[in-house]
Amino acid sequence: MAQNPTLTQVAFIATGGTIASIGTDQFDLLDYNASNKRVDAAELIERVGIQGEFANIRPINFRQIDSTAITNHDWAELAEACLKLCDDPGIAGIVIGHGTASLEETAWALSLVLSVKKPVILTGSMRPLTGISTDAHANLAAAVRAASDPRLAGVYVVINDEIHTSRSVSKTHTLRLGAFQSPWIGPIGYLDGPNVRLARSEQRSALRFNHRLLKDLPRVDIAYSHIGADGVGIRAFVAAGARGIVSAGFGPGMGTPAESLAIRNAVAEGIVVVQSSRTNSGLVVDSKENIEARIIAGSDIGPVKARILLALCLAKGYSRDEIDQQFKSL
Ligand code: ASP
Repeated sequence: MAQNPTLTQVAFIATGGTIASIGTDQFDLLDYNASNKRVDAAELIERVGIQGEFANIRPINFRQIDSTAITNHDWAELAEACLKLCDDPGIAGIVIGHGTASLEETAWALSLVLSVKKPVILTGSMRPLTGISTDAHANLAAAVRAASDPRLAGVYVVINDEIHTSRSVSKTHTLRLGAFQSPWIGPIGYLDGPNVRLARSEQRSALRFNHRLLKDLPRVDIAYSHIGADGVGIRAFVAAGARGIVSAGFGPGMGTPAESLAIRNAVAEGIVVVQSSRTNSGLVVDSKENIEARIIAGSDIGPVKARILLALCLAKGYSRDEIDQQFKSL
């Protein structure tokens, strides 16, 4: 369908991912990456058949890659593109088609650098564009509807008819359609056909960084705790030149005794350590032991997102205490 002059205009930035992937046939739902075939923005819009249906869509090709290959340089460029588009009075909102593997990281990174009054909606799909009962069509349609809604401003993830904040959303299953959730907190809204329903207000943070900082992030690693973890990973990260380490600790936010020792040594060398939790939901608060060890409490920010925030803080030149304040002010 052609563009319809009475409708709003939404930009669609394609980065690749399963939502753009072409399998060998409709039953190719698991190993479609093997064919390495992904369509561009215009072809995706064409195949889904939504041009001019409820918004005019401006296709923008950014990448045609698997989202595991996204880099911090891509984030910087993506943020730049979003800022330019948000300045265009003809654009009501932006949809970013993205692989689901790292979608929550890109959403979080963008939310930390974009201070925008228009919706920037990330979406993807769990089944390839050509798969049986693919969610690519429904997710793209819902994302375009959300991107046309003037009540939304900032970065959100719209998938499986739900609207999630970039802070809370997480991929929780390798394969199922309902893989994206905001554990414990839930989505902030829903899409039922054309209706965009905002169910609750969101916890908003004023934390913002210049998007150019994303181009030059220092090394920050994640140490995943498990029984028997002996701190060798932490020492290896230090040896590799990490400026920061996020501890993906046990439930409340703590590592094994051997990891605690390795972390104390890292802190003594000037490395900034944030304590997060491998539960990926819930709050990590200041414990007596962590305060004494000068470990920063990661709040409700899971390890992969804490890593991005810590890297941005270090890129900005914040001291350990200023970074502590940033995490506390979220
Ligand atoms: N391989 C895909 C990606 O680009 C996974 C997906 O999109 O669901 O992340």
